[in-house]
Amino acid sequence: MGEYSGKNVVITGGGSGIGFGIAQLLVDRGARVLITGRSQATLDAARERLGESAVTVRGDVAALSDLDALADRARGEFGTLHALFVNAGIVRNVPFESMTEQVYDELFEINVKGAYFTVQKLAPLLSTNAGIVLTTSVANVIGMPAISAYAAGKAALRSMARSLARELLPRGIRVNAVSPGPVETGILANAMTEEAAEQLRTQLAADNPMGRFGTPEEVARAAAFLAFDATYTTGAELAVDGGVSQL
Ligand code: NAD
Repeated sequence: MGEYSGKNVVITGGGSGIGFGIAQLLVDRGARVLITGRSQATLDAARERLGESAVTVRGDVAALSDLDALADRARGEFGTLHALFVNAGIVRNVPFESMTEQVYDELFEINVKGAYFTVQKLAPLLSTNAGIVLTTSVANVIGMPAISAYAAGKAALRSMARSLARELLPRGIRVNAVSPGPVETGILANAMTEEAAEQLRTQLAADNPMGRFGTPEEVARAAAFLAFDATYTTGAELAVDGGVSQL
């Protein structure tokens, strides 16, 4: 029995990185988790590590039919949800001059539209007093090169948290955002060459007041707090970034 025993949770992008960190922490504390992502192999590996408290559903958050299927599965597995972590996202490291319409649209389709409709499709399953946590980014408040489109999408998400918090308040549902700084996950390696990723890692660590990257577990602790324990907090964004947005 853990502190989150009896809690049922959906985590998008829960097979890797920060989403997996959230899944691991919640399973360790007794919750049952449904994790989604685009790669079946990644989900299978995550399920192997998480054990029987985890179920997986492959799907694309930008496809509304996949979100309908996710909601059906969550209804079938759990009936009621106590928290929703809207965490799936991509980064595309593209300087402003060379951004294409296709990459711009991909960023907004997944990071903004995908998040919005994830909440819309799963909100009917949420219990009174449930918590929704959106994963935004330090890029909301700090200018960084080559990610202006990504940053704009994450700012949209931060704004979405405020207004959805208003809309869902009558149902007793709180909506908050967790805003990670640099966290060691596969996201950089997926966005650029390994050499460029290594250069960026060195730069981001050097620029950080704590001089290091955060861990998925450090973000997970803040996300779990917002979802379950922050009962007088809604519409807020909690920075988990080594102080880089604050100092
Ligand atoms: P990650 O690449 O390990 O995780 C992203 C997850 O999202 C993957 O599991 C992937 O399958 C899933 N995903 C991507 N596109 C999807 C789609 N269309 N449909 C369904 N699932 C999809 O990277 P991460 O760093 O763990 O990223 C998680 C979140 O944290 C993202 O929203 C990211 O923008 C945000 N973030 C990360 C950092 C960082 O430094 N790692 C910093 C700030 C914010």
